[in-house]
Amino acid sequence: SLFPALTEGRTDGLTDGRTDRPALRFGDRSLTYGELGAASGALAARIGGAGRVAVWATSALETAVAVVAALEAGVAAVPLNPKSGEKELGHILADSTPALVLAAPGDELPPPLRDLTRVDVDVRATGPVRHGEASVDDDPALVVYTSGTTGPPKGAVIPRRAVAATLDALADAWQWTGDDVLVHGLPLFHVHGLVLGILGPLRRGGSVRHLGRFTTEGVARELNAGATMLFGVPTMYHRIAQTLPDDPELAKALGRARLLVSGSAALPVHDHERIAAATGRRVIERYGMTETLMNTSVRADGEPRAGTVGVPLPGVELRLVEEDGSAITSYDGETVGEIQVRGPNLFTEYLNRPDATAAAFTADGWFRTGDMAVRDPDGYVRIVGRKATDLIKSGGYKIGAGEIENALLEHPGVREAAVTGEPDADLGERIVAWIVPADPESPPTVAELADHVANRLAPHKRPRVVHHLASLPRNDMGKIMKRALTRD
Ligand code: ATP
Ligand code: MG
Repeated sequence: SLFPALTEGRTDGLTDGRTDRPALRFGDRSLTYGELGAASGALAARIGGAGRVAVWATSALETAVAVVAALEAGVAAVPLNPKSGEKELGHILADSTPALVLAAPGDELPPPLRDLTRVDVDVRATGPVRHGEASVDDDPALVVYTSGTTGPPKGAVIPRRAVAATLDALADAWQWTGDDVLVHGLPLFHVHGLVLGILGPLRRGGSVRHLGRFTTEGVARELNAGATMLFGVPTMYHRIAQTLPDDPELAKALGRARLLVSGSAALPVHDHERIAAATGRRVIERYGMTETLMNTSVRADGEPRAGTVGVPLPGVELRLVEEDGSAITSYDGETVGEIQVRGPNLFTEYLNRPDATAAAFTADGWFRTGDMAVRDPDGYVRIVGRKATDLIKSGGYKIGAGEIENALLEHPGVREAAVTGEPDADLGERIVAWIVPADPESPPTVAELADHVANRLAPHKRPRVVHHLASLPRNDMGKIMKRALTRD
């Protein structure tokens, strides 16, 4: 099973088999393993045999129970964003054709979901249960829609084997055990919040405390109450870095954590260093995606390095491939290639998109991530950015947006930064910086920022154009939506 701890008496190394240990706590509601086993088993008994089921709930507790129940019933779950508009929901429902929707009692479903049979999640349910259909095999566990950062979201079909492989590789790398208590405040309709943040602890027999909404106070409270791990996205760590100078209690609480982990987007070096200076702890970065779950990280006993996402996880093959199709064989920290991945962590297909699926794989089964990177001589991966939006070809150079963004963020006049390329008659492309100034009354000038970047990196990496914005366009995971950056 994916979750041995849910069923009484299992002691196969993933759990001590005690049903009274805490599993989930969301605000003031919590479930022990015994209670979660009963609630998910009762729901599984009601939905067994149903093809795919949609999960739509405004409460994270019901969402978690619903997904676990679907997995226990051997039914694929399609987690939905409760904030999605009708158009996006309509697209996802037409694409994934769920047989029914699992919902939280009291939630009013948006119109496109009202046509489906509704089954309410009862987190206190008892009665006939069904368990253990979720064997570790190639059947689909989840259909998760990608974040839609570069185009319309695609439904990635994730097999149960990939969920187990990724969670076990992370457990190995992070020495993740049943004694760990994870705190996070991420949404549950992406792999970060759901697969890592909920299914991860449940597979180990550990527990999760979900913050509902991320706040630095909530993080400090949970770490002080014994939580051992924090999972977050870079916007959360940015908030932490901003708060630390005025909040010694937060620094102390973070210093207590066994692991601080960031993922879903690049963690700016400036924030990494500020947190390290204030807490003595280095944030571990991991790199993954909907299609591959987790690819890289740093071991719990390893050395996190700012600006890198660590090394491939156990069982994951990773290579960098140059434009001419040749794999880079010796790592020099400079030669850029596309990250390609192979291993038990991969998705099976994009739902209803055989062409996109075929295009995503090489003939020998490597998944083309579309992310560009370099590797240090000792194997650490440094992500340069996405092939589509973050690689700027200017004056005969290939320049990654990320390192310029990192340099800009070290300028005291810059609060947030995104870098893109735009056509230029002389250079091919010129570098454009989109910044949120620290003080909108006196934003840094183009000349100032160009000098700053030229001194830190190299003259050809200086921005030629600077736009000032009140905020950067970001999606619900805090990822910068570069395709939404426009001049006005
Ligand atoms: P879409 O595929 O719909 O455009 P998306 O790629 O943002 O959206 P996800 O699968 O949620 O959807 O995100 C995976 C991507 O996030 C990766 O391909 C990579 O570009 C980025 N990413 C994840 N972790 C990191 C990290 N630690 N550093 C830099 N980028 C990261
Ligand atoms: Mg993607």
